[in-house]
Amino acid sequence: MNNSSKPTALVIGAGLGGLLSAAKLATSGYEVEVFERLPMIGGRFTNIDYKGFSLSTGALHMIPHGPTGPLAQMLESVGANVNIVRSKPMAVIRIPLKKEDNDYKNGYTDIPFGKFPDPLSAINRLKIAVLMLVTKTFPPKNGSLEEWFTRYIKDEWLVKLADSFCGWSLSLKGADTSAKEAFSIFSNLYRYSGSGVPIGGCKAVVDALADVITSNGGTIHTDKEVLRILVENNKAIGVEVNGNKHFADIVISDIGHIETNKLYEGVDSSDEYRQYLEKLKKIRPSAGIKICLAADEPLIGHGGVLLTPYAKRVNGINEVTNIDPNLAPPGKHLAVSHQCVQWDKLDELEQEIELGLQDINDIFAGKKYEVLLIQSHSGGWPVNRSASGLDVNVKNTTPINNLFIVGDGAKGEGGIEVEGIALGVVNTMETIL
Ligand SMILES: Cc1cc2nc3c(=O)[nH]c(=O)nc-3n(C[C@H](O)[C@H](O)[C@H](O)COP(=O)(O)OP(=O)(O)OC[C@H]3O[C@@H](n4cnc5c(N)ncnc54)[C@H](O)[C@@H]3O)c2cc1C
Repeated sequence: MNNSSKPTALVIGAGLGGLLSAAKLATSGYEVEVFERLPMIGGRFTNIDYKGFSLSTGALHMIPHGPTGPLAQMLESVGANVNIVRSKPMAVIRIPLKKEDNDYKNGYTDIPFGKFPDPLSAINRLKIAVLMLVTKTFPPKNGSLEEWFTRYIKDEWLVKLADSFCGWSLSLKGADTSAKEAFSIFSNLYRYSGSGVPIGGCKAVVDALADVITSNGGTIHTDKEVLRILVENNKAIGVEVNGNKHFADIVISDIGHIETNKLYEGVDSSDEYRQYLEKLKKIRPSAGIKICLAADEPLIGHGGVLLTPYAKRVNGINEVTNIDPNLAPPGKHLAVSHQCVQWDKLDELEQEIELGLQDINDIFAGKKYEVLLIQSHSGGWPVNRSASGLDVNVKNTTPINNLFIVGDGAKGEGGIEVEGIALGVVNTMETIL
């Protein structure tokens, strides 16, 4: 690099955050090089072919705010051609037929997401209506979503629903989700009218971004792990890969603040840097388990999410083949369940998987399906590198000049999953460009 007069950028990691940043910079006059340690691009947002089914390395092939959200807007702005189809309905909630039951064994019914107050008593329905109105003007400032609900309305149903919704969308319990962040997310869900599925799955998105990068002169290297970020006078000046030094005007890292911080040394021990390290101690990843199911007949029958608040572990299930049948072999369906793994259960993954399988048995009692693959996501390959709400204090900058962090370790406020990544990239680009 540096042979031309163009400004230059190096990107560490070809996940969604890295590719979005590289595409934006490549289309804004930068000379861009992306380094990815794996032999493939896309990180936790691409497809893996398994028995003809397009499973994924992470995401459930869902874009939370569909064809109009921040990610879709950013894809359009860089010229990445992806067809995102709106999920209809957005979500339904499975509740037991008999009010007194605490599981699905004696039958169930599915209600639209918007009718979530229905199982409440008349007085609590009134309370929740008032509460939702008041919250629009005065959003909660602190505490968890569970604390916030139970402060005003003591009802087990709302706790279950919060766990199911937050477990599905953030891989967190309601008790671990900040009420402030949850309400920003709710209002964005309604603002953008719900989720969508990219035709071709996650891979369609990352392939379209890779096309934009390379057709604008950028380079993506796979099998190239960045082992060091070169810093001079508190400024990032390049990276070291396989013993070779590459220099650039800016360095963008898609591997989160904590992992990035391990790649540089020799920085000053200023107050700002010490405060930054303190903030990093508060970041925790969120973990989850995905169970991929194959069936000859649809198990859900629509492209939205089936939320399962009465299951022991499974928070929700989607069936993307109702939107893109090509994600499975002809005549087959692909349904994927997701369950959050709480931080104190990380050493008990096998038991958690067993409970998830029991749930699926109850939820789809009487239906024929095959368990294709079970994937657990924690540690270095988590659901979110920083659990939602824990990354709002660190933003996309670092104490090192010209070193920026993107991806799900530095999401924008109120940004759920890949929408948060897009918002974080927008913030980063506003600073750089
Ligand atoms: C089970 C599960 C379900 C999910 N469901 C959804 C969903 O339906 N919708 C949604 O919006 N989001 C979902 N997510 C979240 C979403 O998948 C992630 O937030 C997103 O893919 C993360 O992208 P990223 O770019 O931040 O990181 P990554 O995808 O992790 O990319 C980082 C890349 O950097 C590479 N790398 C690491 N270290 C180095 C190094 N030193 N040098 C070079 N390369 C390096 C890695 O190999 C990786 O490819 C889900 C995640 C999981 C796990």
